[in-house]
Amino acid sequence: MKCLLCESLSLSHICRPCQETFLTPSIYKRKILNKIEVISFYKYKDIKNLLHTKHTDIGYYIYKILAKNSFSKFAQEFNFTNPVHSIAIDDTVHSGYSHTAILNNALRSENIRPIFNKLRAGNSISYSGKSKEFRLLNPRSFKVSEMREKEIILVDDIITTGSTLSQAVSSLESNKKEVLFCLTLADAAFK
Ligand SMILES: [Zn+2]
Repeated sequence: MKCLLCESLSLSHICRPCQETFLTPSIYKRKILNKIEVISFYKYKDIKNLLHTKHTDIGYYIYKILAKNSFSKFAQEFNFTNPVHSIAIDDTVHSGYSHTAILNNALRSENIRPIFNKLRAGNSISYSGKSKEFRLLNPRSFKVSEMREKEIILVDDIITTGSTLSQAVSSLESNKKEVLFCLTLADAAFK
């Protein structure tokens, strides 16, 4: 096949040199709800075209590559006194695969245990392209499934205003869970 970025022949959808050049992760941090840290690995503008593949038939492979370069590396270096669990926003499968479940699964390591289908949007309002006001007026009211796990890392693919993550954190907290921090692939706030 051909590398999506440089079009040279490649064994993967993004060749190794391009992965090293364009997908070496950085750490971008911000806080939501004045206390919860959100750590992202890329600027949204830098990987926008790759993220847009999630609605195409190569999205699965591209998200796998992105997850391996960022979430997996993070998980390998993550140290915590006891193992913690990770949950992705909207990881129920709609059409073949869930891109956030791929990210969550990439965290599987000695100290992080991903769990699935625990957090579901109670409605399917799309926030894409909508204003912060619209998002605040139309909360997604996440439903938290029964679980024993208490300490949670929350996963999503993109943070823009932060309202989706904030609502998910609030839902988890009202179910007596502690969100340690959030992880997203890309942050749209960094220009
Ligand atoms: Zn390439």
